[in-house]
Amino acid sequence: MLIDGFGRKHDYLRVSVTERCNFRCQYCMPEKPFSWVPKENLLSYEDLFKFIKASIDEGIKKVRITGGEPLLREGLEQFIKMIYDYKNDIDLALTTNGFLLPNAAQKLKDAGLKRINISLDSLNAATAAKIAQKDVLETVLEGIQAAADAGLKIKINCVPIKGINDVDLVEVLDFCKSKGYVVRFIEFMENNHAKDGAKGLNSDEIKAIIATKYPNFKMVPRDNSSPAQYYELEDGFQFGIIEPHKDDFCAACNRIRLTAEGFLIPCLYFEDAMSIKDAVRSNNIDEAVAILKKVLAGKPEKNKWSNKKDDNEISTRAFYQTGG
Ligand code: SAM
Ligand code: SF4
Repeated sequence: MLIDGFGRKHDYLRVSVTERCNFRCQYCMPEKPFSWVPKENLLSYEDLFKFIKASIDEGIKKVRITGGEPLLREGLEQFIKMIYDYKNDIDLALTTNGFLLPNAAQKLKDAGLKRINISLDSLNAATAAKIAQKDVLETVLEGIQAAADAGLKIKINCVPIKGINDVDLVEVLDFCKSKGYVVRFIEFMENNHAKDGAKGLNSDEIKAIIATKYPNFKMVPRDNSSPAQYYELEDGFQFGIIEPHKDDFCAACNRIRLTAEGFLIPCLYFEDAMSIKDAVRSNNIDEAVAILKKVLAGKPEKNKWSNKKDDNEISTRAFYQTGG
């Protein structure tokens, strides 16, 4: 079992397979690319898999593939199949912007993928284009439908940004409700790669907007295995809010992140990281596991995003590298 220095059990590994992306979301990488990590610096699927196998043996029960945009990396289906074939009862999931899903969804499902999280910030084409800096909505909606048709369990992620998609939140919720998808609104996590001046909505502001149409939702008791706090509408439909600015957000953190370059990152906020690249490339898996345990031992207690306006700090970590 993997336990960090604060006694938190870790059973969830997020693996970024690329930092590259076909969108330029304002809250993530509005200015990129100026230079990408050269492909030879990335770990091969075989090397990533060696580490994933070892971490499953150490107690990891959930693996999520992310990026950048993970579907940009060729051969992703085969990578997913490698993981599935090693242990088919782990929770195998993917986070994607959905743009390449129309052709990929069925292949991903056939390879063993179980669940998929898709980003959808607005159902207004112009607003979606403003956020992603590309005309994306129609194709993303086709991608979501393809995932549903393939039988993947779908969650929708939406990052509310003031003055941009705040007016669209009820529509996103209603869309998910009509389709039976889980929806989570994610508080914007300030970082110095995002567009200057971008401001997110906090959980109270998000709830106030939902309340304009659904005034009587109630809080659902917290499930510590999820980063989201869920709320239930009168008809039983639940929506989630991921609230990293809350003081107790990190108390139940169970996740560790591996970047495409082989850095293990204990916390989304901080720059701290240790590389397993040399260890896996030289087949020294014991050393890679020792590094994993060291990273966990040094994992910070909590992030430094905060609800208190004066305290709210800016992270220097890039979401497209850690995979969110
Ligand atoms: N490209 C894929 C996507 O967008 O779903 C996967 C990678 S993306 C970094 C993973 C998640 O992080 C997405 O749901 C995205 O909305 C979220 N994200 C990116 N930057 C964020 C930020 N500054 N604050 C909150 N969430 C963010
Ligand atoms: Fe790309 Fe995802 Fe970042 Fe948007 S949030 S720029 S889709 S990695």
